[in-house]
Amino acid sequence: MKIFYAKYILPIASEIIEDGAIVVDGNKIVDFGNREEINSKFKDVERKFDLKNALIMPGFVNAHTHLELSGIKIKEVKDFKDWLYQVVEKRRKLFNVEGVFGKIKLVKTLLEKRWKGEVEKRIGEMVNSGTVAVGDVSNTGRLITMLLRVPMKVQIFIELISFVEERGIEFFNTIKELVGNVNKVVERHNLQREFRISLAPHAPYSVSEALFKLIKNFNGTSKTSVHLAEVIDEVEFIKNGTGFFRTFLIQRNGFDYSWNPPGVSPVKYLDRINFLDENTLAVHCVNVDDEDIEILSERNVSVCTCPRSNFFLKVGKAPVRKFLDHGINVCMGTDSMASNRDLNILNELKFAREFYENVSDEELLKIATLNGAKALGFDNICGSIERGKDSDLIYFIIPSDLKKSEIYKFIFRSNMCSRLR
Ligand SMILES: [Zn+2]
Repeated sequence: MKIFYAKYILPIASEIIEDGAIVVDGNKIVDFGNREEINSKFKDVERKFDLKNALIMPGFVNAHTHLELSGIKIKEVKDFKDWLYQVVEKRRKLFNVEGVFGKIKLVKTLLEKRWKGEVEKRIGEMVNSGTVAVGDVSNTGRLITMLLRVPMKVQIFIELISFVEERGIEFFNTIKELVGNVNKVVERHNLQREFRISLAPHAPYSVSEALFKLIKNFNGTSKTSVHLAEVIDEVEFIKNGTGFFRTFLIQRNGFDYSWNPPGVSPVKYLDRINFLDENTLAVHCVNVDDEDIEILSERNVSVCTCPRSNFFLKVGKAPVRKFLDHGINVCMGTDSMASNRDLNILNELKFAREFYENVSDEELLKIATLNGAKALGFDNICGSIERGKDSDLIYFIIPSDLKKSEIYKFIFRSNMCSRLR
């Protein structure tokens, strides 16, 4: 057992403690409180570490990213449509070189190596910015082995994309085997507490109703995620069956001509097919109306906001204040390198502080910690400093004269922190 002391402890789920102490046994938080109170309760503990001018808090949760897209760099976009075309092209080029060089095995090996290097760099960036849990969307499952070894709690969402029903079902049958096999390994090594894998539909404009239902049914009570109401064109497509996404799908031979548009908003559509519940993580939710917000609230859906991605793609701003006022569990994600500069959650937080002016500092930190843990189903083991939870803690070195009232501002100004071990 050991005790860590620090000038401030920010438990998230309770009040800030001045001159605080945390008792940790192995990987568990045994107790926390004021220095004197803890010292009198734990007289026999010999291993004591005084961090002095430091602030200890729970690590951050990045609830939405796509590590597979590390290595893709997009400098500028006109709008979401322009971005989508660029991503599709760049993703194709990530592992393929055109012409004769592309046929050489060594070239493929080098591309793979470069890509893995990028992924490792981004994982390092997440860990170094205090991320202790991540929700990662994967299209290929290529990173499963790597993610089994990272010092973070991991929820992998294997993403399925197919608007054409038959193709989707075929895809589903192959992928569900992969997930089943990974789950066997996870169970065999007793890793299910920290590592989870499930299926996730990409978005209402790219996944058929049948596939949505198959995924939901397969997942049972596991968490799932979906990109929802990200861009206004999605609303048009689901309501009327027209606009950009119709053109995009037709161009890519992925449109279903027998499809009848649901005629309602994307949120209402997913509610109608019983996809929305407490195990659903709806990512973005930028283009939602008041009725949609009511539905998300009633169904206990968690909403993940990705402020820097939304800004970069010029899709608008999620009504986070309204979500919070409706009691919705709002969490935060960096999204991928295809729409962000880095996966540093402190940078995301800093941007969010400016972006969402009517959300309090306290709310914002809860969004980046406890709410994310809840959205990924890790809230019983991380996201806040509470007795019995894992000691997934981080600390910031603070100026000696930092006042209690300045703590939040200090965090929003920081670029790095350390993991408490
Ligand atoms: Zn995404």
